[in-house]
Amino acid sequence: MDTALLVIGSGPAGVAAAESYRDHGGRGRVVVVTPEDHQPYWRPPLSKDFLRGESDLPDIALRPDTFYEHNDVEVHTGVDITRLRPGDREAESRTGDVIRYENAVIATGAAPMPLPADGGEAVPTLRSVADSDALRRWAGQVSSALVVGGGFIGCEAAASLAARGVTTTVVGPDEVPQHRRLGPDAGARLASILDDAGVRYSGGAHVDAVRGRVGEGFAAQLDSGVTVDVDLVLAATGISPRSRLADVAGLSMRSGRIAVDASMRTSATHLFAAGDVAAAMNATAGRVVPTEHWQDAEDQGRIAGAAAAGTAARWDAVPGFWTQIGDETVKYSAWGDGFTSAIPVFHDDGGLTVWYADDAGRAVGVLTHRCDDDYDRGGDLVAQGAPIPVAATA
Ligand SMILES: Cc1cc2nc3c(=O)[nH]c(=O)nc-3n(C[C@H](O)[C@H](O)[C@H](O)COP(=O)(O)OP(=O)(O)OC[C@H]3O[C@@H](n4cnc5c(N)ncnc54)[C@H](O)[C@@H]3O)c2cc1C
Repeated sequence: MDTALLVIGSGPAGVAAAESYRDHGGRGRVVVVTPEDHQPYWRPPLSKDFLRGESDLPDIALRPDTFYEHNDVEVHTGVDITRLRPGDREAESRTGDVIRYENAVIATGAAPMPLPADGGEAVPTLRSVADSDALRRWAGQVSSALVVGGGFIGCEAAASLAARGVTTTVVGPDEVPQHRRLGPDAGARLASILDDAGVRYSGGAHVDAVRGRVGEGFAAQLDSGVTVDVDLVLAATGISPRSRLADVAGLSMRSGRIAVDASMRTSATHLFAAGDVAAAMNATAGRVVPTEHWQDAEDQGRIAGAAAAGTAARWDAVPGFWTQIGDETVKYSAWGDGFTSAIPVFHDDGGLTVWYADDAGRAVGVLTHRCDDDYDRGGDLVAQGAPIPVAATA
């Protein structure tokens, strides 16, 4: 039987595409495929409560089991699509099975980058439930850990390991976490949140080489010449989009991602892409805005599903995410492609807002810690391109 909608990938973009296709009256067979062994699940808990051992697989299900039956959506686990033939509207799996589709959504997400250091390929990374499950088992057996990378996943995972009683250090190139991406005040706040969570941050450091393996311990050699001996090393050094399938099929690409318009249409008819793998045009920004956030993947998936069902829809939201590091939540809403000034506002209750402006003083982003009102109005200001509500030279 032909498939009306084939969704390649069972993350938030893929599942939202299937759901939205049905919500917009899409008929026929809907199939979601994933090489993973599990039903679709939430990734954010993998560096937070799941890693701390406070939740389990059933707790992080992306949708209740009944969702798939009610919406007549088939999820096929253990299916890895290795070839696309857009002209024939066919997708081929690793085992040689061919799926013919009317429309398809590529929602293959991203893979964690291996640690870019000599011996780095042996260092664990964190993307899947299997990765997190292995980490939380090791966390019960080790006493020290080194997390390489001060991005949000690195900070979150480090705080969770510390909460498990593991003496944890984060190393990163910036003096404070994400200084270059978010500015000095946001970086200092992240460092202080890490400190409160019992994690040491060591900035201005680069890991040149790693020797060892889980169970035997690691020796990480820093560019300063110092060698750090630890029980566990985790690489949290970014992601690379899983876009090879599309590239080989001849789809238009942009900086390694699949180029899509604001309706998530690729350069091939009947083929859409959404989520971390896509470089999508944002209708409000009027430019391509790549994202690596949960809500944006879900939003883009919904748009792809609606468009596949024949309903006009376009992506126009300001990207954003929340991160939970230990007990603290930091929220960020921004176009994410740079700023001219980053103006901090320190609130009397200990909260922080950082307003990001372009060279004309227009809001291009906001980061908040314990200040939800600013986060809410900041998102609106960014969408409108309105001036930031504090002096840009403060
Ligand atoms: C540990 C962790 C914590 C995070 N925390 C946050 C957070 O707090 N807030 C936030 O906003 N974001 C967070 N993120 C990022 C967020 O999870 C991603 O942005 C989001 O999952 C992207 O969704 P996606 O659907 O594009 O891709 P993914 O969720 O990566 O899903 C891709 C799917 O495609 C499948 N697939 C890949 N290749 C193939 C193929 N060839 N054939 C078939 N299927 C394939 C994969 O198995 C997977 O099922 C976190 C990510 C991680 C790893």
